[in-house]
Amino acid sequence: MTALDSNRTPSISTFASILEAQRAFHRDGQTRDLRFRDRQLEYLENLILNNERKIYEALRADLGKPDQETFISEIAMVVKEIRHARANLKKWARPRRVPTSLALFPASSYIYREPVGVVLIIAPWNYPFMLALSPLVGAIAAGCCAIVKPSEISSHTSRLIYDLLTTAFARDFVTVIEGGVPETTALLELRFDHIFFTGSTQVGRVVALAAAKHLTPTTLELGGKSPAIICSDADLVVAARRIVWGRFMNGGQTCVAPDYLYVHEAVVGRFTEQLRLTLKEFYGTDPEKSPDYARIVSHSNFDRLDRMLGGATQIDIGGQRNRETKYIAPTLLKNTTLESPAMQDEIFGPILPIMTYSRLDDVLMRLRKSEKPLAAYIFTENKLAAERFIELVPFGGGCVNDTVSHLGSSHLPFGGVGSSGFGAYHGERSFLAFTHEKSVLKKSRLLDVSVRYPPYKAWKMKVLRFLLLGKF
Ligand code: NAD
Repeated sequence: MTALDSNRTPSISTFASILEAQRAFHRDGQTRDLRFRDRQLEYLENLILNNERKIYEALRADLGKPDQETFISEIAMVVKEIRHARANLKKWARPRRVPTSLALFPASSYIYREPVGVVLIIAPWNYPFMLALSPLVGAIAAGCCAIVKPSEISSHTSRLIYDLLTTAFARDFVTVIEGGVPETTALLELRFDHIFFTGSTQVGRVVALAAAKHLTPTTLELGGKSPAIICSDADLVVAARRIVWGRFMNGGQTCVAPDYLYVHEAVVGRFTEQLRLTLKEFYGTDPEKSPDYARIVSHSNFDRLDRMLGGATQIDIGGQRNRETKYIAPTLLKNTTLESPAMQDEIFGPILPIMTYSRLDDVLMRLRKSEKPLAAYIFTENKLAAERFIELVPFGGGCVNDTVSHLGSSHLPFGGVGSSGFGAYHGERSFLAFTHEKSVLKKSRLLDVSVRYPPYKAWKMKVLRFLLLGKF
């Protein structure tokens, strides 16, 4: 291991035995008890709220994340999910009775929701606390045991997650394994009952391949280039605030941030000016001095963004950077085309390319043909335009007249589609991500009609046709 080297975190040679111990714990049946799950969720909530200060410190050390951003996106998001799960656990977990067709009469049919077993949760570094713990809430609620692998790049948060979860939970129930590629590779060789991965599309493929060897189901929460469209009728002041907030919070390192803009040519001048004013209002004349502006997580990520900007002759606003402090100013790129370097991959930094358009349908058709992004946004006062955008453009989830906020709702499933991932979570979907729905037909022995049994006869066929198709 690298910077995380420690005697405390388990070594690779022990991973298989940790998994076995979790399997045994799961088979033992304690996690089936809803009171047990509720208690563990309560521990987790108290653990987070009692350690708020440490969480702010870790996020500041890893990303220079301002406390308010940490509060909203790392702490409150998880606590809200815990409270929602605890309030609904009984309802989610109870067996559901469903109708039984006449052909199966006399019988009753049920769906039992049971925990899948032992799961692996792999988290990225950009929202390193929330993206490790939010899936864990679903796993605990569903009655699973879990191994959590935080990102080694956000090393302070990784260590804090290790410390907190190791204190709170029995190791056979929840274990944190810190580390990078070697540790994750070793974990992926083991047979889990579900793998929940959040990260890049590229590593998502590695995870899917490893999972395929054991036929392990996966949830893949990946990335992509998420567009935002600013129509000519949009409220430009509000749109600018919501775009700047969504793009530049966390130093632009947000999976659902608007990655690039399509602005109607009639308003691009006014809108760019509004973006400029908003940046000044949010971060002052020198964002490097702003306590509300985060830093790039690592030098390698800084260098990647630096290369992207190095070739950009279209810097309109920003562009200043400092490798030592991993600072990159909020940057707007004008005259962007689909061929521009910033349009080739997900940016994942504080850079916002602006393209213009004249016909909304042309934009919608281009997006319809592109890779399906994790998110997409439109700013318009025209309901028909918004509906057309929703109908024509494939994307994981998104907003009309806002950015990012859709993932704050426990009632909206959050996940990608196509290359931005598959499966979803938040609220009941988190519970279901770690649940097997077991179908059971309970048949009465009182009436045992012989039509389905051999020897097969013409009259039996007639009865079956009537029962199954409604006609002879
Ligand atoms: P990443 O894919 O590099 O790393 C994610 C995790 O995978 C880390 O824990 C890391 O240790 C592990 N990992 C890295 N390389 C590996 C390998 N070769 N084999 C096995 N494991 C490996 O992602 P990241 O850089 O941490 O995060 C950025 C990406 O994540 C962006 O693409 C972003 O859009 C995406 N993301 C998506 C969501 C979402 O909810 N859909 C949320 C946050 C980030």
